[in-house]
Amino acid sequence: MQAVASQTLLRTGHATEPVRPYDPAYDPLVSPNPGQGRDYAPTYWIGTAGAPPEDDGPITHDVDVDVALIGSGFTGLCTAIHLARDHGIKATVLEANRVSWGCSTRNGGQAQCASGRLKRSQWIERWGRDTALRLHEEVCAGMQTFKELIADIPCDPQPGGHLYIAHRAKAMPALEKEARLLREVFKYDARILDADTVRREYVDDREAAGAMHEPEGIGIHAGKLAFGYLRKARALGATVHPSSPVLGWETRGGVHYLRTPGGVVRARAVGVCTGGYTSQGLHPQLRNRLLPILSNSIVTRPLTPQEIEACNFRTHQVITDTRVLRHYYRLMPDGRVQIGSRSAITGRDAPQEKYRAFLERDLARKFPALAGIRIDYSWWGWVDVSHDMMPRIHQPQPAESIYYALGYGGNGVMYSAQAGKRLAQWIAGRGRELDLPIFTSKLPFPNVRELVESQAFAPFRRLGQRVLYRWYHLQDEVL
Ligand SMILES: Cc1cc2nc3c(=O)[nH]c(=O)nc-3n(C[C@H](O)[C@H](O)[C@H](O)COP(=O)(O)OP(=O)(O)OC[C@H]3O[C@@H](n4cnc5c(N)ncnc54)[C@H](O)[C@@H]3O)c2cc1C
Repeated sequence: MQAVASQTLLRTGHATEPVRPYDPAYDPLVSPNPGQGRDYAPTYWIGTAGAPPEDDGPITHDVDVDVALIGSGFTGLCTAIHLARDHGIKATVLEANRVSWGCSTRNGGQAQCASGRLKRSQWIERWGRDTALRLHEEVCAGMQTFKELIADIPCDPQPGGHLYIAHRAKAMPALEKEARLLREVFKYDARILDADTVRREYVDDREAAGAMHEPEGIGIHAGKLAFGYLRKARALGATVHPSSPVLGWETRGGVHYLRTPGGVVRARAVGVCTGGYTSQGLHPQLRNRLLPILSNSIVTRPLTPQEIEACNFRTHQVITDTRVLRHYYRLMPDGRVQIGSRSAITGRDAPQEKYRAFLERDLARKFPALAGIRIDYSWWGWVDVSHDMMPRIHQPQPAESIYYALGYGGNGVMYSAQAGKRLAQWIAGRGRELDLPIFTSKLPFPNVRELVESQAFAPFRRLGQRVLYRWYHLQDEVL
């Protein structure tokens, strides 16, 4: 791709300051856009990452660019890095708020060898064994891409694998079956641990009825990683513009006109990297293709040596449990515990104290010694779940130079690095080489198509989500 015109760069020398406070009730299914110039959510990551690095300031006039990327989370920044490094294309990244304001500075920092919400056995059911094996190769390649990208970013990596804890005895047979499949079909060395071993050698989670340990899994500091990606992308020649929401999008004569408050960005190609913060009106190709779901996270004060002993935390490895509405937790390098799980259904309800209280209750259920411990950080964010639980890195219309990488379903810390590589490949004109279903098909609509196309769809989806959450709760705790 040839340069269209060079853009005058606005080097600010420092990070762009927020012009509006954080909005705790933001809801992508309700708000027409994610805001402009909003401050970060008050997360542990932002509280401990240090000052955000220099960016390129907001868009202040009309510009012509080759490639515009919308969204500056891990996906947008990794795509910019790969576009520059692998294809010589210097992208222009547009961000509505502060850099990496969305999921990428709100997650649990768990980099797992996964993408989407389906298990390997479900890949086989859906696509057959050969495709499942190739998908596994892609995800493992993603883990390598991720390791290589973070190698020179000081983001406190905690390697050692992923511990997948059976939250009750009933969950063990399915876990054993999955581990056998991982070993025998995928040649991936997943081991089953009994409850005593988990409690003695890893962590005394009082719910643990056993666990599956998989060799790949790294805990990272999400804020430091986001800032590292930002530095890397800019060092390679990409520009990153916070406080520049795309508020309108027209395409004429093969050129995309992206309207931001400071000017129109005319781009030959657009990559959409907006994750769970994708507004319904951003582009017709994306309307109703994602179900944004809230996830909550809390971080305790640093544990005393006695508390660490009482919980027998012998690892910093990333941990999840087998609930459908799963918990993700770990002991942080500074001795705090982070734990997260599902939250409210709507943005309006998210700030309610009861959601934080649920997490504190769940923490105490796993670790009675931590009942009532002071919570230093509490936040929530929108996870991008696709309607078939798998991501897509795709060009939805062959005639239009629009591409997206979306729908990781809460497994995007690692996979966004690989998705960025694949999205860059698509944008550089080499997408046809990609032949897995996550590259060759669109983000699907849910089954009830008529509802999808009606304006009333979002509330209906949320109604369905409420029913599903009740069902999952019964499955997880009662049945
Ligand atoms: C609470 C929580 C916990 C999670 N935990 C984990 C975990 O432990 N492990 C894991 O693998 N994954 C986890 N995830 C998911 C993971 O954080 C993401 O998949 C990953 O960070 C990739 O995000 P992204 O870059 O695709 O999107 P985001 O980081 O959400 O970035 C999208 C950006 O797009 C911007 N944007 C939206 N619309 C516009 C517009 N019109 N114009 C300009 N900019 C726009 C937004 O402001 C936002 O900053 C979690 C997510 C949440 C919310």
